[in-house]
Amino acid sequence: MAKIINEINNILLPRVCFGCNAQLFRDEHVLCAVCRHDVPLNDYNYLEENAVDRIFYGRIPIKKAASFVFFSKNGLIKSLLFWLKYKNQEQIGGFIWDCCGAQLKESGQLGQIDAVVPVPLHPKKLKSGATIK
Ligand SMILES: [Zn+2]
Repeated sequence: MAKIINEINNILLPRVCFGCNAQLFRDEHVLCAVCRHDVPLNDYNYLEENAVDRIFYGRIPIKKAASFVFFSKNGLIKSLLFWLKYKNQEQIGGFIWDCCGAQLKESGQLGQIDAVVPVPLHPKKLKSGATIK
């Protein structure tokens, strides 16, 4: 019965890709297979020194900084962050964690991490429509 309700729900309210708006298949979540393949992952987490480390040199005392993806002005990651931050699409946070968490697990650095710092939300952006739960 639940399967039938889900199928009806998918017809009435189809789940779509946050990257390209294509309808998602049953096993897809957040992004379609094409967009998932296009996530601009980087290897900074595996490098001893990387571009993110260099941003913080001499500014604050950190042991390691990294990013998992490249950000571009009109790119897929910008779109995902927009939906996550301003449209309350919390499932995107889980998707991002699934992608990045897998990299962290592979790197063996999980035991060395004291804190994960999210990208902060500027007060002006918060006022413009974002909500905090
Ligand atoms: Zn897509």
